[in-house]
Amino acid sequence: MDIELARAWVRAVAVAVEKNREHLSDLDAAIGDGDHGANLNRGFAAAAEAVEALQPETVGAVLVKAGTTLVSKVGGASGPLYGSALRAAGKRLTGASADPAEVAAALAAGLEEVRRLGGAQPGDKTMVDAYTPAVEAFTAAAERGAALAEAAQAAATAAEDGARATEPLQARKGRASYLGERSKGHEDPGAASTALVFRALADTAA
Ligand code: ADP
Ligand code: MG
Ligand code: MG
Repeated sequence: MDIELARAWVRAVAVAVEKNREHLSDLDAAIGDGDHGANLNRGFAAAAEAVEALQPETVGAVLVKAGTTLVSKVGGASGPLYGSALRAAGKRLTGASADPAEVAAALAAGLEEVRRLGGAQPGDKTMVDAYTPAVEAFTAAAERGAALAEAAQAAATAAEDGARATEPLQARKGRASYLGERSKGHEDPGAASTALVFRALADTAA
């Protein structure tokens, strides 16, 4: 991953989120407050604009800038969580390019930060349920020597499977947990958007 690819990734996430804004908000309307699409659209549009104006010297600077922008623009739970994940990932990428193993470690640092801040375990019906299998798939691919595009493709598929698998679960974190049993039968919006983030990486790296 180089600086241009990192920037293109942020831009691709903004495009994907805008395209899926209503779908994400519909998912959130079923088990939350219906703002997830609008939250992320506002955040990633601002993040894409911010990284466009930046003249970074490292890959990480792009992700840190995107993360800081998300934290400042999104009031909901997802802004601080995504923003902090991007900042934690970016802090690991201190060169002008990063190989797949370095990207894997950065993605894992982002996941660790989400889990530290939000306290969610896999199975709690949150973004962690898409992010965890994505990191596992990416890391496994990087360990067998796969290129970035292949690792990102594996991660995107794993994230999509993980998001789909949240549907029958009962939420234990976030607003959806207030619904108890009634949160069952709906895909988690944050897991769905995490799948978009990894699909955007796969498409950008291809
Ligand atoms: P809000 O719930 O504040 O309106 P959003 O609708 O933007 O924020 O985001 C909701 C998503 O955030 C959920 O679908 C879930 O994936 C994620 N989320 C909420 N709380 C947590 C948490 N404690 N840990 C991990 N993810 C969480
Ligand atoms: Mg919401
Ligand atoms: Mg909200």
